[in-house]
Amino acid sequence: MSENISRNFIEEIIDRDNEEGTYGGKVYTRFPPEPNGYLHIGHAKSICLNFGIAKEYGGMTNLRYDDTNPVKEDLEYVDSIEEDVRWLGFEWDKRLWASDYFDTMYKAAVELINKGLAYVDDQNADQIRESRGTLTEPGVESHCRNQSPEENLALFEQMRDGSFADGERTLRAKIDMASPNMNMRDPVIYRIAHTTHHNTGDKWCIYPMYDFAHPIEDAIEGVTHSICTLEFEDHRPLYNWVLENVGFWPNPPKQIEFARLNLTNTVMSKRLLKKLVDEGTVEGWDDPRMPTIAGIRRRGYTPEAVRDFCEQIGIAKSNSTIDVAMLEHCVRNDLQDKLESRHVIEDPIKVIITNYPEDKTEMIEIENNRNVPELGTRQIPFSREIWIDGADFMEVPVKKYFRLFPGNEVRVKGAYFIKCNEVIKNEDGSIKELHCTYDPASKGGNSPDGRKVKGTIHFVDAKTAVKILVRNYDYLYIDDEEGNKVLNPDSAPEKWCYAEPSLGEAKPGERFQFFRHGYYVADSKLTTEDQKVFNKIVGLKSSFKPGK
Ligand code: ATP
Ligand code: MG
Repeated sequence: MSENISRNFIEEIIDRDNEEGTYGGKVYTRFPPEPNGYLHIGHAKSICLNFGIAKEYGGMTNLRYDDTNPVKEDLEYVDSIEEDVRWLGFEWDKRLWASDYFDTMYKAAVELINKGLAYVDDQNADQIRESRGTLTEPGVESHCRNQSPEENLALFEQMRDGSFADGERTLRAKIDMASPNMNMRDPVIYRIAHTTHHNTGDKWCIYPMYDFAHPIEDAIEGVTHSICTLEFEDHRPLYNWVLENVGFWPNPPKQIEFARLNLTNTVMSKRLLKKLVDEGTVEGWDDPRMPTIAGIRRRGYTPEAVRDFCEQIGIAKSNSTIDVAMLEHCVRNDLQDKLESRHVIEDPIKVIITNYPEDKTEMIEIENNRNVPELGTRQIPFSREIWIDGADFMEVPVKKYFRLFPGNEVRVKGAYFIKCNEVIKNEDGSIKELHCTYDPASKGGNSPDGRKVKGTIHFVDAKTAVKILVRNYDYLYIDDEEGNKVLNPDSAPEKWCYAEPSLGEAKPGERFQFFRHGYYVADSKLTTEDQKVFNKIVGLKSSFKPGK
């Protein structure tokens, strides 16, 4: 680790631990998703951080499902989580379930009871909430608070053997009802839930609360640095309290908080994303507009780009919202020198080159990537009838319009100069076709006599063109001036386009630059032998300035 590279605050903490020998030079992290939805780009930040830090220090990372809450979890999500972590380029050392530790957690609770540090309360959730006090007033102690350990043990056993209904009793840590930190005012650490658990079945009808379970999970696994998001900062004293008082572990882990990722033009909570899926607002968790990892993968983003983004945004200690344009910048940056370009025509207009031989087709050589000569060239057909982009013709040109208009000459990329002589209309007044003439001496698109053309347009040969469906995605949400997220009513516009013949062979997941239009990927689900569907990954240019 070179000294002149600036360290983030988490690396500084680890460096100090290593200097002081706190964990014997060991770095062990974990990524602990609750399997209640698909992972999103916010999770990607946490994954890159946890796995990245361990990798940097030669340490290890566990994938641990936080399945202590029996009602919300669904095994469908487990497969997707693993696919997503691997897609991002990481491999866990162990795959674990928090529910495998229920026995140890139970023992830990019993130990607290024996030490006089936990009691069974008969107040219901409302009563507990009402007696917690406020930031300015201390809470009121429960009438159960001073029961003897023997009484509490007996009651806790009754909780466990099913003698009580849901909500009738809780186990609370006995800490301090006057603590300025509300989380320390005798928090509930076990609750009753007569629910079958996917892993432990009906073995338990009591389940540990997150704040009690999480430090124990970390400690059992030998985690050294337990990295979580900022909203857990106020929970850290409780995390430490549990580990100090359970006392099974000589060298307990350390909780470190960082700011969660928020992005413009999207929402980032599994609950809200699930709602979009359940209500049919999107096609599914992997809809290419979704900020889920499955969605951005299908959208054509690369793991390299996502990792670069996570690196660029860095680790902060205060929450902020990142412009989604920065993510797009990383995607574009990754793709621009990797992809070959293809000609695709949107809003096509037919051009008839009236002086070009009827039965002739010639092959035109086009470079695959203007910036990367090593990517070579390809040959595409050209003949008397071609398609050009709707945006490349104006019957009445606006000022500074250099592309095709009546009387104007342009370069057809790699082919010839053509001049528009006549606009042929349909009965309804729409354009049927353009009649143009070409200059045979301008072959290759080079001026024969020094005369200049200002515009270059691209084309697709009409005889051999293939039809493709193009989905020019826009943001799922628009952020209004008050900072509210408003659903974009037109976030998935579709268009049939004409493409050069090679795109008829595109394989699911293959990416290209569509000349002038942007970066596209053949949709992994909808692309078949006969039907080619392309998703817009990102446009060619952006207003985003790196380093701003
Ligand atoms: P959500 O509210 O989207 O459901 P969560 O925090 O409840 O998120 P978990 O499955 O519990 O989701 O999270 C697994 C890990 O990912 C946690 O360590 C959590 O802190 C982290 N994480 C979740 N969302 C973000 C985010 N937006 N930015 C950074 N880390 C996140
Ligand atoms: Mg959660």
